[in-house]
Amino acid sequence: MTEDKNNLLLNISALYRNVNKYFDRHLTDYDIGSGQMLSLIIINEHEGLTAQQLATYAELDKGTTTKTIQKLLECGYIEVVNDQQDKRIKHLYTTSTSREIINNLYKIRNECTNQLLKDVREESEDLLDQLTANSRSFAVDDSYQHLKIAGLQKLTLLDYPGKVGCTVFTASCNLKCPFCHNKDLVFIPEGYPFYDPDEVLEFLQKRTSLLDGVCITGGEPLLQPGIFDFIDKIKSMGYLVKLDTNGSLPQQLKKAVESGNVDYVAMDIKNTWDKYSLTAGVAISDSQLKNYRKSIDFLKKSGIDYEFRTTVVKDFHTADDLKQIAKMIRGSKYFLQTFRNSGNLINPNVTGYSQQEMEEIVREVQTVNATTYLR
Ligand code: SF4
Repeated sequence: MTEDKNNLLLNISALYRNVNKYFDRHLTDYDIGSGQMLSLIIINEHEGLTAQQLATYAELDKGTTTKTIQKLLECGYIEVVNDQQDKRIKHLYTTSTSREIINNLYKIRNECTNQLLKDVREESEDLLDQLTANSRSFAVDDSYQHLKIAGLQKLTLLDYPGKVGCTVFTASCNLKCPFCHNKDLVFIPEGYPFYDPDEVLEFLQKRTSLLDGVCITGGEPLLQPGIFDFIDKIKSMGYLVKLDTNGSLPQQLKKAVESGNVDYVAMDIKNTWDKYSLTAGVAISDSQLKNYRKSIDFLKKSGIDYEFRTTVVKDFHTADDLKQIAKMIRGSKYFLQTFRNSGNLINPNVTGYSQQEMEEIVREVQTVNATTYLR
């Protein structure tokens, strides 16, 4: 047993060194190393984050974070903007130069992941995820006070099915869906006025007699380590909790559901697997696709009340695509959401179907999954 444990640590060390060699070979044209590439991807997925937040997400120490930022600045891949209120805080943004190469970096990263996972059984992937999650618990501050809350809708009759609720919007997302109507939660503008989590909790404490439930949406709420502590605090006030997720983080989803603090989960299914990258706006590797499948399978077996949903966009979805999805989740509640232009889209040119077209699509999809509804 002891020898196995020692081998585990040796294997982790070899894995780290070999992966670095792979990236050294493939990143020469871009003048950055693997750590800088991963940090650039994190900045791309959390535009406007601070150096401190980059250190947390990338799990880097202060010195390495400073050097990484310096190198990315020298290459012209990021720009640093001083916080308007507190000049000591700096926000990091990608530049047009990095946007030209970012898809190539995703491809390099995804090819590496695919090669690493070749012939690896799914249970082994789960084991690696679990080991990494365990190791993270030593390093990341998962207190609710570090949660980035970008919005609070104080009253909603729509977001929590059948309940009077309010909605908390967390910042940052790992996807960039072109039809996303919350662009500011994905590409966070300079000087964004985040909410103080304590003030949000105070507000919720005062409304316990008026509201039934709290919807936690994003962005992608499960990206933030403090979300579990935050949900715990809300649940202890007696609220029902609904969690919206894009399904990319099955381990975190499992953790949230198994905590017993979540009452309802709404998970997006962006499109058929072959159109997932196109619809999510970022390159998604085969191994990442497995994560979405795992989230779907988990919810179906979890016993929690849940729904799947797809925002239907003319540019990405045909009725056949939606039937394919409906077949995969047959028997589960499936909501087809009419795309509406909020005026704050990631890609302002995407278009939706008319009400009549949506009704026809829903009728067609119901032939495959009777529990499909129009929203
Ligand atoms: S639609 Fe949802 S998953 Fe897609 S980018 Fe927006 S917040 Fe992220």
